[in-house]
Amino acid sequence: TDANFYRLFETWLQLEPTGAVFELENGQTLTREWLHVLSGRYANALRRSGCATGDRVAVQLEKSAHAFALYLACLRAGFCYLPMNTAYRPAELAYLLQDAQPAVFFTGLTAEAPAAEIVPATTKAFTFGPQGEGTFAAIVELVDSTYRTIELTESAPAALLYTSGTTGRPKGALISHGALAYSAQTLSELWGFSASDVLLHTLPIFHSHGLFISFNVALASGARLLLQSKFDAADVLKALPRSTVFMGVPTYYHRLLSSPLLNSDRCRRVRLFVSGSAPLSADVHGQFEARTGHRILERYGSTEAMILCSNPLEGERKPSSVGLPIPGVDLRISASSDEVLKAGTIGMIQARGPGLFSGYWNRPDQTREEFTADGFFRTGDLGFVDDQGYVSITGRAKDLIISGGYNVYPAEIEAVIDEMPSVQESAVVGAPHPDFGECVVAFVIPSDKELPPVADEVIQRVKDRLANYKVPKQVIVVNELPRNTMGKVMKKELRSSLAEPSR
Ligand code: ATP
Repeated sequence: TDANFYRLFETWLQLEPTGAVFELENGQTLTREWLHVLSGRYANALRRSGCATGDRVAVQLEKSAHAFALYLACLRAGFCYLPMNTAYRPAELAYLLQDAQPAVFFTGLTAEAPAAEIVPATTKAFTFGPQGEGTFAAIVELVDSTYRTIELTESAPAALLYTSGTTGRPKGALISHGALAYSAQTLSELWGFSASDVLLHTLPIFHSHGLFISFNVALASGARLLLQSKFDAADVLKALPRSTVFMGVPTYYHRLLSSPLLNSDRCRRVRLFVSGSAPLSADVHGQFEARTGHRILERYGSTEAMILCSNPLEGERKPSSVGLPIPGVDLRISASSDEVLKAGTIGMIQARGPGLFSGYWNRPDQTREEFTADGFFRTGDLGFVDDQGYVSITGRAKDLIISGGYNVYPAEIEAVIDEMPSVQESAVVGAPHPDFGECVVAFVIPSDKELPPVADEVIQRVKDRLANYKVPKQVIVVNELPRNTMGKVMKKELRSSLAEPSR
């Protein structure tokens, strides 16, 4: 049977070709037929440029309706779509291009032309603007728009997505058509999507969250997307009254809360707010509910695992929890020996399911290492499952602090510090310590820059609530935390800032 992910959209296309799929910032709407015709044309143009089934198509493009059409062209034709972070500089690009050896590589019009030495000799480079203008357009003009979506098996590669590189060098995860279809269909059902939904899309599309979770779910549900090129709190607040669903990373919610314009009236048509990609603090969760009446639905996934857990649409949405494993996902908490631990114990999160990646690109050893003998993926995250089956993440294994032989989970300490009114946010890392091996260091952002929390206050607070070995030895007040484009705190950078001899 044919398992090309694009079929999920073709069903909606046949039902109502004139239905809108995109609404742009200028108010213009684009129909399903428009997207189908353009993606067909792009598929033909990619073939004409020499792409063959399984070839990688690398793009470093800003979000646009045309860029989405290019993504769908790849799916329809069986090319492996490789989106790259638009913030990547030449050295990072060079690493990805050399690693992936794509057949073609797209950059925006305004990007400096990629230096010849970073593009592999067998890769064709094209420019591609927000309206599809640029060097690729010359080929597009030569081809027909009729294209028959090819038949593919479930395991056929759909995309090569590199991890964010929070803990090391980005690794390419191969994602199959089957994994895309499973995730989009399961989430569409779980989150109650229908063709009457209007999803406000502000996430970047080089990452799983904006592409596979937001866009694919809307596409598979026949929903309409309100496209905004990037997250801007003022623009979001303007569009919310016309939206039914919003998805974001915790930073977005934080920024929305800083606007006095956020209130329940503005969210009157919204039926669902979703957060993922990084931990959402209970504080933001509570403040958002107080302001809007909405309990944000937090969910958990990764480049490799796509989506593992979600708080329920109906039923209790617990703050500080990523919810329950979604249908089809087997999740367990294990010791480093892979022995399964009992409920309530913190350990390594391992998971199995149809949405998992197929393996790392060109890294068979790493692929073998990250899977257990019975096919569970080692997520690299630490967490526990409560007696109702809700999963909580306590941090990443690489961020675990071992102090005097005790395991210290940064998230537990961060939660205690974040509750302080004088603290906006905190990040806890381990620093080398002569006696304990490692000790706890807390970075805190003050709520009010004029009145930063006093280190002793923070220390006392943790002392009152947690065991001694969890108490920070040092508290550093900062104006901001180093973050990547998905709003993840780069703890690696915080740790290296401590290691600098000047301190
Ligand atoms: P690298 O693997 O290169 O270090 P990365 O893991 O940051 O990069 P992603 O795949 O984008 O790259 O991130 C997935 C990780 O994000 C998860 O493993 C988890 O640590 C974190 N994460 C995602 N959703 C949540 C959430 N709701 N709460 C807490 N952490 C989350």
